[in-house]
Amino acid sequence: MSDRLAVVTGAGGFIAGNLVASLRSQGYKNLRAVDVKPLDQWYQKFDDVENLSLDLNEKENCEIATKGATDVYNLAANMGGMGFIEKNKALCMLSVLINTHMLMAARKFGVERYFYSSSACVYNGDKQHTSDDGNRFIAPALKEEDAYPALAEDGYGWEKLFSERMCRHFMEDFGLYTRVARFHNVYGPWGTWFGGREKAPAAICRKVIEAKLSGKHEIEIWGNGHQTRSFMYIDDCVKGVQMITDSNILEPINLGSSEAVSINELVDLAEEIGGIKLKRTYDLDAPKGVNGRNSDNALIKQYLGWEPSISLKAGLERTYAWIYDQYQLRERGAAGVVREAEPAYL
Ligand code: NAD
Repeated sequence: MSDRLAVVTGAGGFIAGNLVASLRSQGYKNLRAVDVKPLDQWYQKFDDVENLSLDLNEKENCEIATKGATDVYNLAANMGGMGFIEKNKALCMLSVLINTHMLMAARKFGVERYFYSSSACVYNGDKQHTSDDGNRFIAPALKEEDAYPALAEDGYGWEKLFSERMCRHFMEDFGLYTRVARFHNVYGPWGTWFGGREKAPAAICRKVIEAKLSGKHEIEIWGNGHQTRSFMYIDDCVKGVQMITDSNILEPINLGSSEAVSINELVDLAEEIGGIKLKRTYDLDAPKGVNGRNSDNALIKQYLGWEPSISLKAGLERTYAWIYDQYQLRERGAAGVVREAEPAYL
């Protein structure tokens, strides 16, 4: 382990920051963390890790980031929740520069293993037809083959699908060891929780906390609340990334929970954790993405004998507690609040 250098990109953000923390706690001594954000805006930063603030859209910076590495975990991307990706398609597509330049650098410097974080947004929209049973959209669980024929989510999803294929061709044509996971809605501590890029679990926890602390017992929900998703707790995600990187899985594979819940059920759970009941209003014009989506985990179970298993209840309790503390810090104007990046350098 000690002679290997692992590079983690996007490390100033949510998942990659948690991956660095996990690798450290497993005893990895040689770690390089990279993100475009200035170091003082990283969500998590560790003094015993080599931390670099670099714009990985640039080829030269990808070479600086990658030189000497044995393992690369490329999680850097310009992204956010539905509120962000539906309104910033060009910015999302531009992340193609990051993965392309990272692959070229990995090949140049003889990187042994390369991991790429794709997304459930690659799946064909026509394979995500749903029916509303009056409470929730019943959605099919998506199998890996459902990405084709290609009809990915506009912008963000197309970039992910293209970059998956770029990984595959670098493996086939240049012999670079690449592994690709399609993440389904990851949540947990150290994720963006306000500012516009946050995803549903963090946004709902924040709204419940806000209602509780302000005494204004109302919550606004995007869409009619029947949309269904599955949410994977960060610890499962980080574990899955490592298991997939260590595996012989050559094709992109789902990494997600298969526990489908509706947004209304997610609100029920957050209310239960917060010990409060709120009056709900529904914004039917807000961005809401597909009506329903779930992860089919047959393939990951077949390969790894494992699938993400931390229950939404357990994960949301930890996330709620973390956001509650963050909320209090922000109210007091104290340091240590996770803030989304200033747009100036994005
Ligand atoms: P995040 O926004 O918290 O982290 C991404 C990081 O990449 C940010 O810190 C950002 O500053 C950095 N970045 C953006 N552009 C960069 C550039 N040009 N150079 C260097 N760094 C740059 O998001 P996350 O949730 O941690 O997502 C990590 C990866 O997982 C992304 O590739 C994302 O597309 C993928 N993913 C996440 C989810 C999810 O639910 N969170 C779902 C599917 C896929």
